[in-house]
Amino acid sequence: MTYQHILFAADFSDDAPRVGERAREIARRCGARLSLIHVVEDLNISLGGGYELLPVLPELPDEALLREARELLGELARRLEVEDAEKWVINAPSTKEGILGAARDHGADLIVVGSHGRHGLALLLGSTANAVLHGAPCDVLAVRI
Ligand code: AMP
Repeated sequence: MTYQHILFAADFSDDAPRVGERAREIARRCGARLSLIHVVEDLNISLGGGYELLPVLPELPDEALLREARELLGELARRLEVEDAEKWVINAPSTKEGILGAARDHGADLIVVGSHGRHGLALLLGSTANAVLHGAPCDVLAVRI
């Protein structure tokens, strides 16, 4: 089995380098393109005070948050020695949608996630890993954490 475009979904947990190493090794073995993605979820402001009929307004995350995420993703790429890989920090309604949308848009044929990250410690498979697995247009590797 060989892959052509591997998408590593990176959070910034302590385990992220280990998950990234797996993605890097498979990419090297296959001679595949490697992309790193980090999703910054939309922030929602809900207005209280009896304004139930007002919609929940999506607000773009702070530019500072996106900038910090870009820096952290750059650091992770340096640590993994994959500076040449494409690095995407994107804003999406959910992490799942961001990862799956990018996989579709850029024709990834393998998504690499950690089995658990910040959200999923209590679950058999972390929430993002689970969501990605169920909606993916391609293979998914959940690296055991
Ligand atoms: P979790 O849903 O927090 O258990 O995370 C499981 C895995 O999903 C992590 O190891 C990452 O590979 C991926 N992941 C979690 N959050 C993000 C994020 N914001 N952007 C990209 N990938 C993420």
